[in-house]
Amino acid sequence: MPLKSRFIITMLLTIWLLGTISFAQAQSEGASAGRAQIDSASASNTPGIQAATQDSIIVDAQGRVVVPPASDLAMKRYRSGNVLWVVDLLLGFLIPLVILFTGFSAWMRDTARKIGKKWFFLVAIYFILYTLVEYIIGFPLSYYEGFVREHAYGLSNQAFGKWFGDSIKELIIGLVVGALVIWLPYLLLKKAPKRWWLYTGIGAIPFIFFFLMISPIWIAPLFNDYGPMKDKALETKILNLADRAGIEGARVFEVNKSVDTKTVNAYVTGFAGSKRIVLWDTILQKLNPDEVLFVMGHEMAHYVMHHIIKTIFLTSLLIMAGLWVVHRTSGYFITRYQNRFGFDHLGDIASLPLLSVLFSLVMLFTTPVMNVYSRYLEHESDRFGLEITQNNFAGATAFVKLQSENLGNPRPGWFYKLMRSDHPPIGERVDFMNSYHPWKSGQPLKYGKLFKPISVAGSNTTQ
Ligand SMILES: [Zn+2]
Repeated sequence: MPLKSRFIITMLLTIWLLGTISFAQAQSEGASAGRAQIDSASASNTPGIQAATQDSIIVDAQGRVVVPPASDLAMKRYRSGNVLWVVDLLLGFLIPLVILFTGFSAWMRDTARKIGKKWFFLVAIYFILYTLVEYIIGFPLSYYEGFVREHAYGLSNQAFGKWFGDSIKELIIGLVVGALVIWLPYLLLKKAPKRWWLYTGIGAIPFIFFFLMISPIWIAPLFNDYGPMKDKALETKILNLADRAGIEGARVFEVNKSVDTKTVNAYVTGFAGSKRIVLWDTILQKLNPDEVLFVMGHEMAHYVMHHIIKTIFLTSLLIMAGLWVVHRTSGYFITRYQNRFGFDHLGDIASLPLLSVLFSLVMLFTTPVMNVYSRYLEHESDRFGLEITQNNFAGATAFVKLQSENLGNPRPGWFYKLMRSDHPPIGERVDFMNSYHPWKSGQPLKYGKLFKPISVAGSNTTQ
């Protein structure tokens, strides 16, 4: 055993070292990007940002907004981002494989059994140990990606303490939530060894639904302050738009996200009494009121057209498919390597790294499908946002500003689009903003039935 544990420790240290080296290399690359950024960052940090960005908007002879090419810095971020994506992916497979093949997983299960005694606690404690080990090994890279790199590209003003505190909070939430749900597939593996993948997929629906519903209301406020919206005139316009879209009785929140990031976001979520419209303060700093209203029209489309629920059902189907593949293939690996793994059936919690590797592999192949579906929903939300606001110019300038503020690449390559784009490329979205206006020629609107027409907006005749 001493020899074996020495081997395990050596392997884990090697992985950690590799992570640290790739982190250090990436850091030096990020630091040079940071120097390049200083000029443009200091310009865009001044209060004159609105004027500065508006000046950069170019309109062609036909009145269409021109998509500016990606800046050198944006291209650098795009390319290094693709490399990091591959590194993340490989480590995501390598770490559980090492934990598995060194027998470390079986060792964690034995330790969990000593502490936990009862099956449920054994499963929960194993999950906590496994998650902590993954967190520690992945820490250098996540510190680089989440903190160092964002600062180097001028996309973050977050203090290290806030980043680290948030990271620990996320870890704790992940441990609590994971420890509460991990027993489900393993219990089903015991009780229904042939159909566990099917029941887990079905059982996942209420869990995903519950966490998606509670996370904006109970979890997100653990990270930031959710206050009332300061710009009351704009708040009234947003509520009018919501009323037209049939979203009544929603509260509007402004989040102090500027302490964390310079990127922008907004969303509509909740149901019944918890219905809420949330805007990061960054979006209010960077976009003018018309642009904010277009973005809100887009966000309301997701809500009105039940995109979250549709996505949950698709996700659940993919989980089922992924677990089915695990069900069909894991036996081969377990039979072949059971002496190294230290377990002889999938129902043993020590199989979690194997389950996770096989499952992630299937998810990797389904990513392009998920992305196509997500891009379709985003495109239709853009259409809804345009139809409800009928402001092509504001929609187009909003995207051009997002591109420059978020250092986006408006026309990414095929690989990026295939594996990483869950939104249409910004260039395509601007093209659509420039060209879609059926109301100008009196043609019917695709989503005209889902909202009240513009003329009703101010007068408030219904209600
Ligand atoms: Zn969207």
